[in-house]
Amino acid sequence: MIQRENPARFTEIVGSVAETSPIEVDAVVWAADADFRRWSATPIEERLGLLTRAAEAIEDALGDLSVLLARETGKVLGDCRGEIGFAVRFLRWVVAQAPISYAESEVDDDRGRLIRQHKPYGVVAAITPWNAPVILSMLKIAPALAAGNAVVVKPSPLAPLTLDRIVALIGGPLRIVHGGPATGAALAGHDLVRKVAFTGGAAGGRAVAALAGERLTPTVLELGGNDPAVFLDDAPFDDAAMDRLVMATFATGGQVCMAAKRLYVPSRQLADFVDAYLAAAKRVLVTGDPLADGVTMGPVISAAARKAAEQLRTGDCRDLGRFEADPDLGYFVRPALVVAPGPGDPLVVAEQFAPVVPVLGYDDEDAVLAAANAGDLGLGASVWSSDEERAVAFARRFEAGFAFVNTHNRTGMSLRAPFGGVKRSGWGREYAEEGLAEYVQTCVIHAPAGFRPGAPAPENPAAYPV
Ligand code: NAD
Repeated sequence: MIQRENPARFTEIVGSVAETSPIEVDAVVWAADADFRRWSATPIEERLGLLTRAAEAIEDALGDLSVLLARETGKVLGDCRGEIGFAVRFLRWVVAQAPISYAESEVDDDRGRLIRQHKPYGVVAAITPWNAPVILSMLKIAPALAAGNAVVVKPSPLAPLTLDRIVALIGGPLRIVHGGPATGAALAGHDLVRKVAFTGGAAGGRAVAALAGERLTPTVLELGGNDPAVFLDDAPFDDAAMDRLVMATFATGGQVCMAAKRLYVPSRQLADFVDAYLAAAKRVLVTGDPLADGVTMGPVISAAARKAAEQLRTGDCRDLGRFEADPDLGYFVRPALVVAPGPGDPLVVAEQFAPVVPVLGYDDEDAVLAAANAGDLGLGASVWSSDEERAVAFARRFEAGFAFVNTHNRTGMSLRAPFGGVKRSGWGREYAEEGLAEYVQTCVIHAPAGFRPGAPAPENPAAYPV
C-alpha cells in the first residue's frame, strides 16, 4: 500500500493506493494488449468521443481534483486548478487535431498509388513524475488513445491520488499501475509494451531507456533541465518583469523542469538586479499553506527534497519573500537567492529542483552564451532585453528545446508549440502536432504504376528504385 502524506502537514494522510507488484504489472499489460486489439479497430470518432466525455467529467470535478492535487503535492491551489484546466484544454485540442494529424492520405498518379497510414503502436507505457502528474500524464494518454493505442500509466508514488481519480473518469483502454522504480521497470521492460513515454529525472530516464533499448522499444524521454535566464545589458529591471522572473523560479517550490534555474546579469548591474529581485520577491513570493489565499509557494515534496534544498543554501544567501510557514509541520524551505557563487558550484552546474537560485555576473555576451549553453542539459532558456530583435538573435544561439523572450515558462504553453529538450534533456516532443506524431507509426501501401493490373509491363523493371 502506498500512503501519501500532505507535504504541508506531514501528519495528515491524504489517501492511499494499492501498490502494483511486477507480477501484477504483467497481468495488466496482457489485459491492455487485449484492449488494444479492440480499441485500434474502433472508429476514430468513437475514440475521440471517449476523450470528449473525459474532458467534461474532469472539468465537472475540477474543484475537488484541484484540492486533492494541492494536498498530495504541496502545490498552491491556483496552480493545481491551472494544471487540471490545462489538461482539459489539451484533451479538447487533441479531439480537434487528431482527425487532421492522423488522417490517411493517398496519391494516385502516373507513378502509381501511394497510401500513407498512421497506425498505433499497441500498448503504450506512460511513466510520469510527481510535480505535474495530471498534465504530464495527459500529454501521453490523450494522443495515444486518440491514435488507437492502449495505455498503462504509472504515476510517481509521491503523487498517485489525483491521477488515479482521473484515470477512473476517463475509462476506456486506459489502466493505471502504482509503485516506484520496480513497478516502472516491470512496465518499461515488458515485451508487449510497444512504446515507452517517460518524463522524469536522468537516473530514471537512463534505467527506462536501457530496458526499452534491450527490447528495441521506441521511447519518448522528457528529462530534467538547468535553464539559464540571461539578462542583456539593455533589459530593464521593471516590477512586472522581475515579478515574472521570481515566479518562473519559485512556482512549485522551484520543482519545475523548466524553472529559471540560473540567472545571468551584467556584472556592473548585479547589485541593482539583486535589489530589484528581492523587492519583487517581497511583492509576489509568499511561502505557506498551499490551500491558503495569497500563498504562492508551498513546501517541497519530501523530507529528502528538503534536506537537499537546505544544503544548497550556502555562500551569499539571501532569504526571499514572506515566509508564513511552520517548518515543524511541513517540508517547508525558505526560498533563497545565492549571489555570485563560483561557476563550478553545484547550484550552478546541476539541476537544483529546489527553491534556491543562483545569480551570476558576466562581462561579455559570448562568454555568457557559452556559460548558458554549458553542461549536458538543454530543456529551456530565456533572454531578457528591451530590444526584441536583439533578444531573438541571442535566443537563436541557445542550445535548448524552448527559448523564451522576456519571460520564462509560466506563459500557458501554447498548444501550437512543441515542447521537448535537446542534448541530454530528452528526445521526442510533446504538445502540438509533433506530440501527436509520437503515438503513430507511418505505414505505406504502394501499388506502383508499372505493376498495376492491366498496366503494360515496364520496359526496364530494374529501373524501379527500392
Ligand atoms: P523521477 O525520475 O524520480 O521519477 C519519474 C517517474 O519515473 C516516476 O514515476 C518514478 O517512479 C519512475 N522511476 C524512477 N526511477 C525509475 C526506474 N529506475 N525505472 C523505472 N521507473 C522509474 O523524477 P521525479 O523526481 O518524479 O521528477 C523530477 C524530475 O523530472 C526532474 O529532473 C525534472 O526536471 C523532471 N521533469 C521533466 C519534465 C519535462 O517535461 N522535461 C517535466 C517534469 C519533470
